[in-house]
Amino acid sequence: MKVIVIGCTHAGTAAINQIYATDPDTQVTVYERNDNISFLSCGIALYLGGEVKDPQGLFYSSPETLAKLGANVNMQHDVTNIDADKKEVTVTNLVTGATSTDSYDKLIVTTGSWPVIPPIEGINGDHVYLCKNYDHAQRLFKDAQAGKKIVVIGGGYIGVELVEAYNKKGHEVTLVDGLPRMLSKYYDAEYTDCLATEFEGNGVKLALNQKVDKFTDTGEGVVVTTDAGQYEADMAVLCIGFRPNTDLLKGIVDMNADGSIKTNDYMQTSNPDIYGAGDSVAVHYNPTGRDAYIPLATNAVRQGTLAGMNIFKPTVKYMGTQSASGLKLYGKTLVSAGMTLEHAKNEGFDAESVTIEDNYRPEFMPSTTPILMTLVWDKTSRKILGGQLMSEYDVSQSANLISVCIQNENTIDFLAFVDMLFQPQFDRPFNYLNILGQAAMAKASK
Ligand SMILES: Cc1cc2nc3c(=O)[nH]c(=O)nc-3n(C[C@H](O)[C@H](O)[C@H](O)COP(=O)(O)OP(=O)(O)OC[C@H]3O[C@@H](n4cnc5c(N)ncnc54)[C@H](O)[C@@H]3O)c2cc1C
Repeated sequence: MKVIVIGCTHAGTAAINQIYATDPDTQVTVYERNDNISFLSCGIALYLGGEVKDPQGLFYSSPETLAKLGANVNMQHDVTNIDADKKEVTVTNLVTGATSTDSYDKLIVTTGSWPVIPPIEGINGDHVYLCKNYDHAQRLFKDAQAGKKIVVIGGGYIGVELVEAYNKKGHEVTLVDGLPRMLSKYYDAEYTDCLATEFEGNGVKLALNQKVDKFTDTGEGVVVTTDAGQYEADMAVLCIGFRPNTDLLKGIVDMNADGSIKTNDYMQTSNPDIYGAGDSVAVHYNPTGRDAYIPLATNAVRQGTLAGMNIFKPTVKYMGTQSASGLKLYGKTLVSAGMTLEHAKNEGFDAESVTIEDNYRPEFMPSTTPILMTLVWDKTSRKILGGQLMSEYDVSQSANLISVCIQNENTIDFLAFVDMLFQPQFDRPFNYLNILGQAAMAKASK
């Protein structure tokens, strides 16, 4: 079988590795427009903040590694057209300009996403930066020398990570966001208010609840004008979200209104010979039971691996996602899975939530640390819809447990009494997540 893979970051790399694990005799041709593969964008903030010294460590594969598996790897090649009837793609070699066609039995589309760039005056200026790939990471690093003024636009998880990284490096940082709270999609006000205090305490200027009207290039830098103020900067970094990179597939496969490709459980598009995975496709969001656009590496590697299995025959179904995610900011771990109460209500659920704070292990231990925790559930079915945790203790795996509970449609009663280990080094006789479940039961009985 001859397979063409378009795009080779996480979903593409995962698909190719899986294809060769399933059938080493498969003929795989890869077209990637960049000159690198498998770059972990999640490491950009760590690199800018100085925690990761060598950005080369942020690659976990290479064209040579894929070629050794047997793939025909074509870097700096842009796929410009797909003829689904002839099962052919048109490709431009970005170095020579030469154009060619190539044919496939199965096509895997892992063209990913690109930052949202709204039509704001001056947005394409020299001092306005994007944050997505290795080239961006290098520019964001090189141009941010000591003592720069940096405005980050967008208080989602990427924006806040950049703010912390640049702030720790001693830059003067302003965070602009159109909403009154940063990270409001993921966390309730108790969490984000605490973060806001932390940010301001570290000297970050928060310019929330204001929208950018224009960018004015001053030659040396840029002035960011919002509906509430003006911020002079050396650099302005756009972190306002991503859109699926799927123009190539328009009219060829079914898509959602947001441009994400629709797939079935086996990552197959409406054209049976075309599979999709990663940021270019929609995910099944289990808390609502509907499709959603949630571009995360977690989805990309899972879906890419599944596409690499299922092109041979429908084998393993995609389970969907709870969009579990985590952050570490100023020593605090913040993790969430599923919906906040506000999100659940907006989705039409008769939802309830409880928030408690408890120490993770007994007070008789030499030290313990408080955890702020929230559980969201559906009042009628008592099924868990979401959870959030924040602590200086590493609570990251707890979001994974809540994610599994949502996936398995477990109730608050289940979480309250499910068996978890006890040992004073780690927790109390009831683990803190049991205690959260019990707090939810107590609130539900009122
Ligand atoms: C700063 C940052 C931090 C992040 N942190 C996290 C995190 O902590 N956890 C997490 O789960 N996710 C994180 N993400 C999201 C994650 O990086 C993406 O979900 C992931 O990169 C998606 O992988 P992908 O392979 O689907 O698509 P992409 O990474 O978008 O890759 C698509 C590839 O396709 C190529 N391509 C596109 N069109 C063509 C074409 N026509 N011809 C040839 N090649 C083409 C592109 O050049 C690109 O290499 C982060 C993202 C960013 C930007």
